[in-house]
Amino acid sequence: MSRFFIPREHISENQITVTGEDTVHITKVLRLKKGDTLTCCDGQGFDYEAKIAEVSKATVLCDILRKTKSDTEPNIKVTLIQGIPKASKMDYIIQKTTELGISEIFPCELNRCVAKLDGEKKIERWQKIAKEAAQQSGRGIVPTIRPKINISEAVKVLKSADISFVAYECEEKTVIKTVLNSKSEPKSVAFLVGAEGGFDKSEIDFLIENGIPSVSLGKRILRTETAGEAVLSMIMYEIGDINSI
Ligand code: SAH
Repeated sequence: MSRFFIPREHISENQITVTGEDTVHITKVLRLKKGDTLTCCDGQGFDYEAKIAEVSKATVLCDILRKTKSDTEPNIKVTLIQGIPKASKMDYIIQKTTELGISEIFPCELNRCVAKLDGEKKIERWQKIAKEAAQQSGRGIVPTIRPKINISEAVKVLKSADISFVAYECEEKTVIKTVLNSKSEPKSVAFLVGAEGGFDKSEIDFLIENGIPSVSLGKRILRTETAGEAVLSMIMYEIGDINSI
């Protein structure tokens, strides 16, 4: 069944008002009509099974049939801090990590980042990509794309999670499994991934001084757009909800 994220203020006790691009999608692309049913989601963990009551040019009015708690959200909140990559790689990273269950993504400026992130426009576009990927993959929330941060701010975000680490291509001792199992029943994980150029040694030293361990993802070097997805899969397998469906 088709699924739409609807702003909370468009959902009342009995009805949902769909506006904007979603109206076009419902009426023109899916050609749904009065009497057809769809699933709406408030982006805060609740799903609504709804029946189309009225279609006009700008809005689709639906009657709520059933409200249920979304059961697709992971049991763990995962935050990715991503070194800003070149070109459209961030689009891909946002799409794939949303499918895999990410909760929020911070773009991060690092010494070896070539790409610059200018203005709010990009964040808005990325937020839209997250919404579409969340809709497609049946998520109960839309992951939040945060404004750009630097490495000092990244440390604060990392420290606020139950488990945190930096994926470092030159790490020779610590493997990710060890860090993921360092606490029992963690509720949140935050991790940092470098951009194409990886990390400066000074950045890794700074992170370690601040208590953030560096971990290896294995003997092969992954591209920046592969690393976040690989880590997220490992988290969900090791301490997430992949093993209980
Ligand atoms: N240019 C660097 C590689 C950067 S890979 C080099 O050639 O050495 C981009 C990012 O992905 C890295 O900064 C790191 O965060 C992550 N990464 C890739 N492979 C990794 C591995 N084997 N272990 C840990 N992190 C890895």
